[in-house]
Amino acid sequence: MVESIQAIRGMNDVLPKDSVLWRHVENIIRQTVYSFGYDEIRTPILEKTELFKRNIGESTDIVEKEMYVFEDRNGDSLALRPEGTASAVRLGLEHGLLNQGIQRWWYMGPMYRHERPQKGRYRQFYQLGVEAFGVMSADIDLEMILLSQALWRNLSLKAPLVLQLNTLGTSASRVAHKKDLVAYLSRYRHELDEDSQRRLDTNPLRILDSKNEQTQKIIREAPKLMDYLDDEAKAHFDSVCRGLDALGIAYQINPALVRGLDYYTHTVFEWVTTELGAQATVCAGGRYDTLVEQMGGRATPAVGFAMGLERILLLLQLQEESIAEPADIYMVSSQGAPRLRALELARTIRQEFKDWRVVTDCGDAGFKNQFKKADKSGARLALIVGDEEYAQKTLTLKYLRDETLAQSTIAQTELLTFLQKARSG
Ligand code: ATP
Ligand code: MG
Repeated sequence: MVESIQAIRGMNDVLPKDSVLWRHVENIIRQTVYSFGYDEIRTPILEKTELFKRNIGESTDIVEKEMYVFEDRNGDSLALRPEGTASAVRLGLEHGLLNQGIQRWWYMGPMYRHERPQKGRYRQFYQLGVEAFGVMSADIDLEMILLSQALWRNLSLKAPLVLQLNTLGTSASRVAHKKDLVAYLSRYRHELDEDSQRRLDTNPLRILDSKNEQTQKIIREAPKLMDYLDDEAKAHFDSVCRGLDALGIAYQINPALVRGLDYYTHTVFEWVTTELGAQATVCAGGRYDTLVEQMGGRATPAVGFAMGLERILLLLQLQEESIAEPADIYMVSSQGAPRLRALELARTIRQEFKDWRVVTDCGDAGFKNQFKKADKSGARLALIVGDEEYAQKTLTLKYLRDETLAQSTIAQTELLTFLQKARSG
């Protein structure tokens, strides 16, 4: 026997029973970003490895351990995109869009990271990414947060989501803080977990993000970036906080929130839930005012966030509200010429009623079985073309949900008029 090939670990199939919820979530996302005036961009799933290495940061988890990197047939090093921001900036620079005033963009699609698969953490996962370029003031930070909040509302998420907020300040404030942080942590070097010991030399700020308990204890007393902010950084963060107060959006300031990518500056935020165990962050973002320049463009302020779709789906599945997509019409017919007639009538109905689902029974099931399938499809109406109907150029209508409505037979030429009346009545 041939051994069957399975999907790659951590990369999920979406089955018909689950794709309904996916589409529901995707539709709401599209409506929401549209309502904020954002435009869609699409970038390739593969990029040059260098794009991510340089811009996400060599010593970040993503680049160091999680990226799918391979050589193509020309010997070029390519990577499956682990996130979307670097690609979005590349697109903007390559097509000259970042010199054309304020840009508001969104994208949705799969990202790839070689992580340990578990609930809410996969090797292929979907993100909605939102980016805005060209606005320095805190208004746009607020718009980002409003947009994410609108998503939770429009998705009718019942799980409480908490907005956590921090500022990473300007690079000048980070330099002073980093010096003191490294001095402090060096005193505890041998008590830190292994990863953090290594990061002490490569990326000390990331130690603040460690999940190791012993390390966390040490971090609690570490110098806080908040205390090193220069006036510019303080003023920006104040505007964000005051804006959130004015908009009535609750938040918690979390000084340990540092984000896993090097390009962030000023405001960073995460929406966190208590319902998904360790995979608590459903949405994360912040400002990255230096990235565009770093990538070869003119200095351009920017802000964005990414939301993980699987974690949103997990939360919606916990709510156990089923979203059904029943058929509207089920065509029951005899095989042969009546079947062809049924396919033809179904085509006519679909052309006229573009939002209806019309299913034609195919194959060799008898009438009894076809009616069973019609019932299961959720259709309100079965249209029957048996041998007799075929010969008489009629069809029989059977109401599947409302037993008070009697079965009737009409001429095939009257079908559209009948359905139009049924829809408006
Ligand atoms: P985490 O701390 O959970 O690893 P992260 O900081 O690596 O998250 P980001 O790079 O900011 O995550 O990605 C934004 C969002 O994308 C996350 O908040 C999460 O919802 C989702 N996400 C990230 N990695 C994964 C993954 N491996 N599987 C599923 N969703 C993910
Ligand atoms: Mg991660």
